[in-house]
Amino acid sequence: MAYDPANVFARILCGEIPCKKVYEDPHTLAFHDITPQAPVHVLVIPKGAYTDFDDFTARASEQESAALFRAVAKVAEIMGLSGSGYRVLCNVGVNGGQEVPHVHLHVFGGRRLGHMLQPLE
Ligand code: AMP
Repeated sequence: MAYDPANVFARILCGEIPCKKVYEDPHTLAFHDITPQAPVHVLVIPKGAYTDFDDFTARASEQESAALFRAVAKVAEIMGLSGSGYRVLCNVGVNGGQEVPHVHLHVFGGRRLGHMLQPLE
């Protein structure tokens, strides 16, 4: 899948669309999800043009990869989740339900989040 430079997160990264920023470093940006699904719902994205998790893990540098994961922990700390716990989620492709074609990690917290998925019947 070719990277779409007009996707909503690319437009946030270039300042075309506003976001509620939580954290930023040279490789990463984190901001509140516009439709929160938990009391805390933050998205963490690399600044580089990567479509999804497969693309990111294949092409990102060691620095970019480390920065993305460290940013998640930083967001948890900033949002006061480190003690109570939280969930990190990455939707990939059609079965994963990925809507925005710029790789992103969801960070959820602020309440008990329950089971990961509905158990198989
Ligand atoms: P996914 O289904 O994993 O691709 O998740 C995409 C997420 O991006 C959804 O949770 C949306 O609510 C969120 N989203 C879409 N547009 C924006 C925006 N402009 N600012 C913040 N979050 C957004």
